Amino acid sequence: MAIIVQKFGGSSIADTEKIMAVAKRIVSTVKEGNKVVAVVSAQGKTTDILIEQARAISKNPPKREMDMLLATGEQVSIALLAMAIDSLEQPVVSLTGAQGGIVTDTHHTKARIRAVDCARIKSELGLWNVVIVAGFQGVSKSNDITTLGRGGSDTTAVAIAAALGAEMCEIYTDVDGVYSADPRKVPNARKLEEVGYGEMLELASLGAGVLQPRAVEVAAGHGVPIHVRSSFSYDKGTMIREVSSVERKISVTGVAADDNCAKITLVGVPSEVNILTLVFSALAKQSINVDMIVQAGTRNSVTDLSFTIARAELDSALETINNIRKDSDWKIVCDENVAKVSIVGAGMMTNPGVAAKMFSALEESNIPVYVVSTSEIKVSCLVPLENYEEAVLVCHKKFELEQ
Ligand code: ASP
Ligand code: MG
Repeated sequence: MAIIVQKFGGSSIADTEKIMAVAKRIVSTVKEGNKVVAVVSAQGKTTDILIEQARAISKNPPKREMDMLLATGEQVSIALLAMAIDSLEQPVVSLTGAQGGIVTDTHHTKARIRAVDCARIKSELGLWNVVIVAGFQGVSKSNDITTLGRGGSDTTAVAIAAALGAEMCEIYTDVDGVYSADPRKVPNARKLEEVGYGEMLELASLGAGVLQPRAVEVAAGHGVPIHVRSSFSYDKGTMIREVSSVERKISVTGVAADDNCAKITLVGVPSEVNILTLVFSALAKQSINVDMIVQAGTRNSVTDLSFTIARAELDSALETINNIRKDSDWKIVCDENVAKVSIVGAGMMTNPGVAAKMFSALEESNIPVYVVSTSEIKVSCLVPLENYEEAVLVCHKKFELEQ
């Protein structure tokens, strides 16, 4: 008997009617002869509302209390969904993250899963119960409630699927799969049938938004196949699994964009200052993720260093850098009006000229490029915020990704 993990995002269970539809889908998966673990997010915009409530009380609420608050959203969902399933006369039990054995580190609001002890889930499945687990939350070794960062329910679902050796982890969402670009911005974007883990990891990290990147990382590490599909239809979505990249003709699979970045430039840093180590270790200590980095060549014994971070972390990054700068001469300049546009494809490894083609697409539309970063399977360009939607369109067109 196969175990299937089904994850339902906030929009899939936003109201009573949607919860009943999800309950019916779960029961029908059971009727097909599967054991089901369902992982759910908080309903609709609940998490955003909880964050606003906290902000109204304090600019800088204790992170432990933030987790205490945010975890309530998922707890409402599991109880309501369990009641809905019970009303269909299907045995069911809801579990918090802690009850489901999601053990994390103590990094409140950004905790990472350290272990999944699924004894309880297994015994409930053994009793033929559907098991509903609260996504996004866990318990730390010091017995405090933690949360996994925005979008963390995806990671909960994949981690449970890995621990149970589930046949499949289905991610139900409000789009019907992974597209060659955001279909809301690129109307002729194409639904992808299959995406490899590496490509999906890049797409998710670069702003595709459909999956939390860490979920993809866990899936790749344990070989868990993921099926991203719509909760409002029974159509096949996009399969994410190991895809052989033998002689791929298509160099680019998709275009992703991230408008949630900020660029910081340190201007006029004396070359004897080991600025790279100084700045990036200080930021790492604060768990601030640095993304694109460029250091200009040294001229007149000074150099400039630019890098990007998530816009939400700008204030804490500036504070951190100011602390190490003390009264040195170099200056800090920041720019919030930037966005990152990326092309991704495993086929890039074997097809040359991909970056050049992207640059020429941007140049033909007079879109300036501030910073470039690449990996084996992606090229990212930092562009002005006001141009990024156009940049996505022209790249999508240039690589002929439309339907
Ligand atoms: N409710 C959390 C959030 O909005 C977790 C999730 O949806 O995956 O980020
Ligand atoms: Mg999500």
